[in-house]
Amino acid sequence: MTTTDTTAATALDAARAELRGRLLADGVLIDLGSPGLYGRTGVFERVSAAVDAAAVRSQADLHADVLRFPPVEPLAAFERTDYIASFPDLAASISGFTGDDRTHRALLAARERGERWETFLEPADLMLTPAVCHPVYGLVGDSIPEGGRTFDIVGDSFRREPSLDPMRLQAFHMHEFVHIGTPDSAKEHRDGRIPGMRALLESFGIAVDVVPANDPFFGRVGQMLARNQVEQSLKYEFVTPVYGPDHEPTAISSANLHEDHFGTSFGLRTADGEVAHSACIAFGLERITIALFAAHGTDPDRWTPDVRAALAL
Ligand code: ATP
Ligand code: ZN
Ligand code: MG
Repeated sequence: MTTTDTTAATALDAARAELRGRLLADGVLIDLGSPGLYGRTGVFERVSAAVDAAAVRSQADLHADVLRFPPVEPLAAFERTDYIASFPDLAASISGFTGDDRTHRALLAARERGERWETFLEPADLMLTPAVCHPVYGLVGDSIPEGGRTFDIVGDSFRREPSLDPMRLQAFHMHEFVHIGTPDSAKEHRDGRIPGMRALLESFGIAVDVVPANDPFFGRVGQMLARNQVEQSLKYEFVTPVYGPDHEPTAISSANLHEDHFGTSFGLRTADGEVAHSACIAFGLERITIALFAAHGTDPDRWTPDVRAALAL
């Protein structure tokens, strides 16, 4: 890093700390004592529910099938997404205690000595869901009707990326509209939704840019995958300069083309017998909500009439 880079990084950290401090001080978020984990208060929920409802209204013409899933998924389903190959550092699993009285006594003794006791737990064949669309691919099978299928899925996501940036949480919510169909219908879903998403986010009084992006693939092989993803324009992000014009803007939503990635691993086929393609658009609910607080202040009653109207607040 050059001195200029270091200064910029320090300034960015300061901007993040300032926003985090303001959200905590104004009673929007509650610090739970672990980076990227927060309790949410009434004002946060009011705005985030309004964001979610506006997102749903904006996609009403999709007539998507509503599906909701728990925040954990079976290991077998997680396996088929190949997530552990690409994002091992973000993945997290559930463990449970399966031992007998003796093992329990050993656990308590370790705890008494101030040692870690979670090592006494066994993997429970459950993973925390890192992207809310994951569970759907195991459900649609090999007879996807002509025109494809479109789903409305909102829920909890967990990614092991602890950070003091209030825009980077470990546990958060995304609302996805997922299409599974032909190569053409998947691309049309991804591309066709971008202008409306942009207009929606702009109607919230947030400055938005749509930029080609990549997922944070792990390791050296990951760098190659990330480059391919950008070159093939598989991912677009809706970014906003939440920390001002001098710093990298933050993604508050994304539009992703998976091509046959999930179709191949889950054995999904369209009416013509071909491997299905898929695409999803995702609204990051906490990030949009916090971007609103950052842009307009933490009291929604004082936001301008047009912003409140866009959110039906
Ligand atoms: P980033 O580039 O910031 O790491 P991402 O590319 O991994 O995000 P996606 O996988 O596209 O994000 O997830 C969809 C949306 O979920 C993002 O556009 C963002 O709004 C939200 N999101 C992703 N990661 C987080 C996080 N750690 N905390 C809060 N929201 C997040
Ligand atoms: Zn998805
Ligand atoms: Mg990204």
